[in-house]
Amino acid sequence: MKVRVGVNGYGTIGKRVAFAVAKQDDMELVGVVKKSVDIAAFQAVAQGLRLYVPGDEDVKNFESAGLKVNGTLQDLLGKVDVIVDATPGGVGQQYKPLYERFGVKQVYQGGEKPEVAEASFNSLCNYKEAIGGRSVRVVSCNTTGLLRIICAIRSYVNVESVRALIVRRAADPKEVKRGPINSIELDPPKAPSHHARDVKTVIKGLNVITYAVAVPTTLAHLHHVTLRLSKSLSKQDIISILDSTPRIILLNSERTGITGTAGLIEAARDVRLRYDIPELVVFEDSVLVDDRDLMLFQAVHQESIVVPENVDAIRAITGVEVDPFKSIEKTDSSLGLTRKLW
Ligand code: NAD
Repeated sequence: MKVRVGVNGYGTIGKRVAFAVAKQDDMELVGVVKKSVDIAAFQAVAQGLRLYVPGDEDVKNFESAGLKVNGTLQDLLGKVDVIVDATPGGVGQQYKPLYERFGVKQVYQGGEKPEVAEASFNSLCNYKEAIGGRSVRVVSCNTTGLLRIICAIRSYVNVESVRALIVRRAADPKEVKRGPINSIELDPPKAPSHHARDVKTVIKGLNVITYAVAVPTTLAHLHHVTLRLSKSLSKQDIISILDSTPRIILLNSERTGITGTAGLIEAARDVRLRYDIPELVVFEDSVLVDDRDLMLFQAVHQESIVVPENVDAIRAITGVEVDPFKSIEKTDSSLGLTRKLW
């Protein structure tokens, strides 16, 4: 039997997760909850999605715009096994009692506090911890990027410490009112940034310190990461490890001519829906090994990197797949994640 899934919050993350869920042969997308009437609502209906609204008071707005409403969030909760909450940070926590009352399992996003769920989640790091649980929180885009690289390397050699500088995109492309537009902002000014704490919600006790700055771009984040390993590995060892890890693209700048996020996104425009890159992109030529320190640059497409983890999180909490790598393989092949941009 297929896992019946609803998505509450149909914005940047919600619409992508809904699309990804609909692609899975072991899941059924029952419906999506849309709060406001806008282009995404018309598109969802045109694509054949069943639209629900948060409460009875929202029905009128949609119907007067000619949009068919299938019911309220509560109606949807009565029909699903899992609700993916992709509402703005903090709203999921407010919905939690309702989800619990309906006895549905919950997948939250990284904008929620860790306490919202039984476990924070990353497919490569701790899939098994979530199996059979009631709720998980898929950590944020930057944390997902950091965890992918840490857990890829950790499966071969112990990682003693992590130091990272996160160069954050200022806003998503649609967020026209956010800044900075002409500054490189310490974000936050007081170190460390919260990302280190967030990494530790998945890898407890890891020695990790992060700094973050926000820069005037919307395309992607860029990280400089230093991992101290328990023993020295060659650059070739590192390349082989990353090359054999799912959801990581190793990008050779010399061969592709791509030296930053603009080139990356331009390449994705030609081959990927919405120019999404749910893989972590490691710039191969930036990989350096100095004794036990591994250093590299990596890019994170903030709008899509958490999407495959949401799909895996649904499999983990429902227990329909207990092998992380089988779930990852299923998700990635259904979404056409080729780990290449051609
Ligand atoms: P968004 O603003 O693009 O989408 C949120 C959607 O929820 C909007 O469509 C909004 O209308 C709707 N909404 C607002 N209040 C609602 C309510 N009470 N009931 C139902 N729907 C409601 O936000 P987003 O970027 O998709 O972020 C969602 C979550 O994902 C946040 O926790 C965020 O931190 C996390 N996240 C965002 C990104 C990113 O880069 N955008 C990356 C990773 C994780």
